Amino acid sequence: MIKPNYKFVKDMARKVLKDHKITSIPTDLKKIFDKLGLQFIELDNPSDIDGAIIEIDGKPRIAVLNKAKSISRQRFTLAHELGHIFLSHNKRDFYEVVENESEVPDSPSEKAKPSKEIEADVFASELLIPYQQLKKHHDRVNDLENISRLFQVSKDTMSIAIANYWRYAK
Ligand SMILES: [Zn+2]
Repeated sequence: MIKPNYKFVKDMARKVLKDHKITSIPTDLKKIFDKLGLQFIELDNPSDIDGAIIEIDGKPRIAVLNKAKSISRQRFTLAHELGHIFLSHNKRDFYEVVENESEVPDSPSEKAKPSKEIEADVFASELLIPYQQLKKHHDRVNDLENISRLFQVSKDTMSIAIANYWRYAK
């Protein structure tokens, strides 16, 4: 099995942010959807689907965000799907994985995940919590609630990013 290429993935996420001139948080995913020509639909129905990128004729066409559901979770799902697009992963995963996502993320079974899924998660994390932005706001890392809200990500996602930040920041 091919191992996930963390450096490539993070560099790609940073390139996407740069190419779309996204320099503030929360990361404006809509800017990326627009550039990709994805139609953006906001739902507001608790009984409807979670965030997703829908393909038509084998191409990603529609990004759906359901405001009635947890926004941070959906932003992560959408950013993860963008990861598959920008990392040119094959299409088959798109659907498979949305399912995985709705299960417990960041669980010990994480290790059993296929490399592409790990890469898409790493991409999503870097896209939503860019290293430079975390550095800029690093005086807030002790207030998880606050900093998660600032980046519009879940506390789980933020804790992992902060842990990596301390591990790699030098
Ligand atoms: Zn995936």
